[in-house]
Amino acid sequence: MIRQISPKKVTKKRTNTKFEEQLVLQTVRGMRDILPGDQPYWQQVRKVLEKRAVEYGFARIDTPLVEFENIFTRPIGEGTDIVDKEMYSFRTKGGDQVSLRPEMTASICRAYIQHGMSILPKPIKLFSVGPVYRYDRPQDGRYREFYQTEFDIFGEIDPILDAQVMQIAHRVLKSLGINNVQFSVNSIGTTESRKEYLRLLKAYFRSKKAKIPAKYRDLIEANPMRIFDAKDDKCMQVCAGAPQAIDHLDKESRDHFKHLLEYLDELDLPYTIDPQLVRGLDYYTRTVFEIYATDADGKSHALGGGGRFDGIVEMFGGEPTPAIGFAFGIDRLIMEMKRVKAKKYQAPQPRVFMAQLGELAKKKSLKLFAEIEQAGVLVAESFGRGSLKTQLRHAGKLGVELTLIIGQQEALDETVIAKNMMTGTQETVAQRKIVNFVKKNLKESAKLVKSK
Ligand code: AMP
Repeated sequence: MIRQISPKKVTKKRTNTKFEEQLVLQTVRGMRDILPGDQPYWQQVRKVLEKRAVEYGFARIDTPLVEFENIFTRPIGEGTDIVDKEMYSFRTKGGDQVSLRPEMTASICRAYIQHGMSILPKPIKLFSVGPVYRYDRPQDGRYREFYQTEFDIFGEIDPILDAQVMQIAHRVLKSLGINNVQFSVNSIGTTESRKEYLRLLKAYFRSKKAKIPAKYRDLIEANPMRIFDAKDDKCMQVCAGAPQAIDHLDKESRDHFKHLLEYLDELDLPYTIDPQLVRGLDYYTRTVFEIYATDADGKSHALGGGGRFDGIVEMFGGEPTPAIGFAFGIDRLIMEMKRVKAKKYQAPQPRVFMAQLGELAKKKSLKLFAEIEQAGVLVAESFGRGSLKTQLRHAGKLGVELTLIIGQQEALDETVIAKNMMTGTQETVAQRKIVNFVKKNLKESAKLVKSK
């Protein structure tokens, strides 16, 4: 059991020279350790992501966790929860105003411009994996440090790329054993065509101001589309009668959306059109989508989302560059994998165990261990454990095929006793011949297993 130490116990203790804060041996609220027991899930996700990324032509990019604050505030925009409440921002000793990244898209756009990627053949496909930080209220599945993976494509306006990123998202989920998936999709038009729509939306919300709870009223002027995101019954009632972006699209956006839906039909992706899906952030243009897993009770679990961000690169001073991407919350993927009892990563099992007795034998075995491991054979050992009996019991538990024993005599003779764990036979082998012996023996035992 892990003992929780209450943060309230932090006291200031007087020492001779200064006040010293007591150590609190616990992670900061909303952040957590990912322990070895959970790593097979994380490893499985990383393995699948890397494989799918290569197959779909994505190159990995890693950007710093810290960026200048306005890299995020400009594109994400005022009136969003991220910018208004959730950023970890601070001034460095050198006077720079910086933030921990609350998402990855803005950083990747910054990197795209900084490294002159626009001269590369288009489309440019980038993917990333790592932690992001949001000062949100922690609860089950909602953390202040969580992990995302992001897939972005730069330089193509064609809706086939929108469909392709959704296809990748679907493929990743399937490969992880998450099958009960649903996409919500919508189009919110271009920044230009949205101006007229936003005017209508503001006018509508102003007319319903009395019915909108006070804490959302500021959004009417600041960012009216965010009211669609409010998880509040009264807001939802008002939103039900609100004008919808999809009815006010410019011709190109309408065609773009129509073609996207045709591609999705062709791919047989499970999607529904949600005219109220806006995804809150200012930078989205045209396509927006979210990805959910549904459980047996019909409850939806948000796994990820994405959309077009055709304006960010230009907003940052780069050339106009259409772009589309999505992010999965990896913590949520893992919650879902556990819920559906999906396969986790199976580490390769050692096939050989090395046991030793006495000081000289210990020295020899350390060297032999490295020789066998360098020949590509996975070896287990328990160098720290004393008795031979305990070591052999450990070998038995691991289910290895071969145990190599170096006792005091063998250490002097420069030999090894090799015990075949399947047949029980034992033979003495010269240490200098051990690598070849092990390889040959394992080949034979593999044949034996096959023929059984
Ligand atoms: P967003 O960038 O807000 O669209 O989030 C993308 C995905 O990240 C969501 O669908 C969730 O799966 C995941 N996510 C967002 N916020 C959190 C959080 N606080 N803790 C864990 N996962 C999160």
